[in-house]
Amino acid sequence: MGLAVLSVASEAVPLVKTGGLADVAGALPGALAPHGVEMTTLLPGYPAVMAGIKRAKVLHTYDSLLGQPARLIAGKLGAQPLIVLDAPGFFDRQGGLYTDPQARDWADNWRRFAALGRAAADLAGGLVKGRRFDLVHAHDWQAAMALAYLRFAPVKRSKPVPSVMTIHNMAFQGYYPKETFRELGLPRSAWSMTGVEYHGGVGMLKAGMEAASVITTVSPTYADEIRNPEFGMGLEGLVASRGDRVRGIVNGIDSADWNPASDPHIASPFTERTLARRTANKRALEAEFGLEPGDGPLFIVVSRLTWQKGMDVLVEVLDHLAGIGGRLALLGSGDAALVAGLQEGAARHPGKIAVRIGYDEALSHRMQAGGDAILVPSRFEPCGLTQLYALAYGCVPVVARTGGLADTVIDANLAARAAGVATGFQFNGVNYHALAAAITRANALYYQPGEWKTLQRNGMKADFSWTNSGAAYAQLYRELVGKA
Ligand code: ADP
Repeated sequence: MGLAVLSVASEAVPLVKTGGLADVAGALPGALAPHGVEMTTLLPGYPAVMAGIKRAKVLHTYDSLLGQPARLIAGKLGAQPLIVLDAPGFFDRQGGLYTDPQARDWADNWRRFAALGRAAADLAGGLVKGRRFDLVHAHDWQAAMALAYLRFAPVKRSKPVPSVMTIHNMAFQGYYPKETFRELGLPRSAWSMTGVEYHGGVGMLKAGMEAASVITTVSPTYADEIRNPEFGMGLEGLVASRGDRVRGIVNGIDSADWNPASDPHIASPFTERTLARRTANKRALEAEFGLEPGDGPLFIVVSRLTWQKGMDVLVEVLDHLAGIGGRLALLGSGDAALVAGLQEGAARHPGKIAVRIGYDEALSHRMQAGGDAILVPSRFEPCGLTQLYALAYGCVPVVARTGGLADTVIDANLAARAAGVATGFQFNGVNYHALAAAITRANALYYQPGEWKTLQRNGMKADFSWTNSGAAYAQLYRELVGKA
């Protein structure tokens, strides 16, 4: 029998995106369909979402949902069912999804996303006739209150609904002052250490994690890491207390978008059998960045320029990279101090190091297709996508041994090379010496063309499409519904 799952998210491709969450929420329904799971997505009615709805069928009207009139409207997310929370007072705004035009958080974010959660819990409780759901899957703090409402203030006569809380990044927790609690419409009993209360305020992600049947995060290693203070960001105790109810499922990549054999953005398409054709992409990339053409390794970076991504350590290592004959093309945007550091490095090494500040999807494809190796020195990385694109494109990943990076790249140590399974390089600890040593290792192996090609081919053959991830989520849902 088919399973009906309600996925609650604050963004999803192709309608709205600010980060990786949107890719996951957008891809999951399609990945689950072959496994007999019908996933309906609930999204806030931002202008871009409302514009994407063709024939609006109203499923329910609220006179007041946490203080605003609202409607639930049926639509489509690609080929899959969508329900939109149309509440103009909350979501019809110019600016970002979470921030005003001055890039400050909207002051009522707690109310906007509590409303999303309330609507989700109502839907799961059977609010709309003919729409039943076996399970609720909430993504990140913006959706987490769905599970708190299901637990503490369910609609009448609904039986307990199993739930999954997925954490895409523990750094964002949705923490609000105590005064917001009485506006949420939850019973007094919800104000407890195992409910929504967190350090004297309302902790939305925390509340979802307490209520969820299972917590997942986007890689097994990150699931393990968040049991420790360094990665748990205050919630490590809660994570540890949930024991084996915390799991990791790696994200997939969209293999139609990211396929080097058919990528419209690249000059010279290639497969693992025609790796020589990459050279034309490398030459084009050197020209585009104004780098000296050369046969030595061309490193690339495609990243937000932040502390999380270890970009301060990258700045420190630029002289080393250029000193051993490497070249670097970097695309990114973010912190002004890091931008300045990178630009100074490029000025010190003209022709060897070049940076492009901005966000450019097409250029990121050309970089993966023409670069020899990508550097990903993240301090923490729940899953990471750039190393997965790199693997698919024969651009060898050089990554910090953390989170999803640890789970998806096989270090070219002696054992892995002897077994013929290595796909890249890992280093331990994000600091100058570790990154510099990893760059040196990659540089050395690059000059053994047979070994290097094996790394490239192994990576290109690895399957990080949504096929495996979709199967893993479907299996988890069945486990939970079977037990409910
Ligand atoms: P995060 O979501 O933490 O930023 P991920 O590696 O999971 O890190 O995903 C980042 C995504 O954003 C990747 O698809 C990457 O290619 C893309 N990206 C990051 N910075 C840029 C940029 N400046 N231009 C184009 N794409 C970028």
